[in-house]
Amino acid sequence: MVDEADQAIPLRVLERELALPKARIPPTAEEFLELLAVPTLISVKGQDTSRTRIVSTLLHGNEPSGLRAIRSWLATGRIPAVNTLLFIGAVRTARLPPGFAYRFLPGRIDLNRCWFPPHTGRVGEFAGEVLRLFNQALPESLIDLHNNTGHNPPYGVSPRIGPEERNLVAYFADRVVHSPLRLGTLVEATQADFPSVTIECGRSRDPIADATALAGLERYLHDHRSEHLAADPPSMEILTNPQRVTVRDGVDLAFGEGPVADAEFTVARDIDRHNFERLEPGVPIGWLAADAGWPIEAVGPDGRDVSRELFTLRKEVLETRRAITPIMMTTNRRNALDDCLFYVVDPPE
Ligand SMILES: [Zn+2]
Repeated sequence: MVDEADQAIPLRVLERELALPKARIPPTAEEFLELLAVPTLISVKGQDTSRTRIVSTLLHGNEPSGLRAIRSWLATGRIPAVNTLLFIGAVRTARLPPGFAYRFLPGRIDLNRCWFPPHTGRVGEFAGEVLRLFNQALPESLIDLHNNTGHNPPYGVSPRIGPEERNLVAYFADRVVHSPLRLGTLVEATQADFPSVTIECGRSRDPIADATALAGLERYLHDHRSEHLAADPPSMEILTNPQRVTVRDGVDLAFGEGPVADAEFTVARDIDRHNFERLEPGVPIGWLAADAGWPIEAVGPDGRDVSRELFTLRKEVLETRRAITPIMMTTNRRNALDDCLFYVVDPPE
């Protein structure tokens, strides 16, 4: 097998009218993925060809709702309101057996952490080329569709939450997280150039998340209005001040109903039921082994670890110290270590 680690990442650019007409769209997302084979930018002519919108998805290989929605929509053969660029990112990661299994390839870089300049190295060069094609189209907006690995309602995330961003979120959800964190995401890298939001559609492989993605995509693609993004957005819950909670390097993590033998830190297996819930002080999060050190960090935009302000230890139980609202809690160990355990936001007023 050829080691592709040092080769440039390919990007296919296709015109829907030539390469992907309705008749060529296969019936399943898995077959569609095989047809695409590599990261692909599909350009679709709209009824109004003077404007362009962008949809991005599958930056994480285990988050298929956006890809499923794009496949379903292409299979209808409908013409969108305006020109549309459909970007499908981690196709090769998603194709690895058993399919839609990996966020990113083991030992490689997360495709939604690489969008800030300098665009060097194979992933950076790829990101730079995609951004060049996006900017060349002078888009009026971008949505980037994702899934969570834990139970979550649909919500948007953006470094800005002006009327444009909230109107974009409203196609999909009635909650938005205002996140000034700088992780290197596509939305962080484009928000200064055009309104841009991440949409978390719900849990991977949940049919409800797939339906949320498709319904929102159809509303977005078939909205003929031109000035609506600047209008007053519908009211929505705004969550602020996210802190990213990660497991400290080298801490042996497990999920369980009680402390797992040999694990330094066990997180309650049903923790994700608390997503978007206000937790009062004293709610248990997990268990620490008798000789284990402090297990987590919680870092906001200023880079300071505030984990001891948010959580405390009572005997061997890690519990909330003040009222918080956790979001994006995962019970997938690989995801918790590759990305984070969850985010904490201030409870809504
Ligand atoms: Zn994602």
